[in-house]
Amino acid sequence: MSPRGTTDPSCLFCKIIKKEINANIVDEGDDFVAFRDINPQAPTHVLVIPKEHIRNIAEADDANHLGSLFRTACTVAQREKLNGGFRLVVNNGDDGGQTVHHLHIHILGGRSMTWPPG
Ligand code: 5GP
Ligand code: ZN
Repeated sequence: MSPRGTTDPSCLFCKIIKKEINANIVDEGDDFVAFRDINPQAPTHVLVIPKEHIRNIAEADDANHLGSLFRTACTVAQREKLNGGFRLVVNNGDDGGQTVHHLHIHILGGRSMTWPPG
């Protein structure tokens, strides 16, 4: 990963981190922010993002940092009381369905998921 604190002034999620754009933030730490998706695809749909601007998971080369982000996603899912299970999704690149180019983990829960995803 690039040095901690990297930010992109034109990036939507960097603007959410800097509180320049409003979001329904459910949790925040030194290295991450978790907030509700504006267009939820399940009763619970939260995005967990690193505060560092990293374009996608393929470019996330700090395994410890990435592992912490996934650990955080599980903690947020527990706080959201997704006791029946949940799904974590990371879309990578255009063919992966990524529309915002700042790494994010989707937490989806509150309903039974289907497979395969579209
Ligand atoms: P992607 O398709 O890149 O994996 O996911 C991007 C997600 O960001 C989408 O689920 C979309 O609904 C969400 N999103 C896009 N713009 C905003 C916004 O301004 N606020 C919030 N809270 N979510 C957003
Ligand atoms: Zn960003």
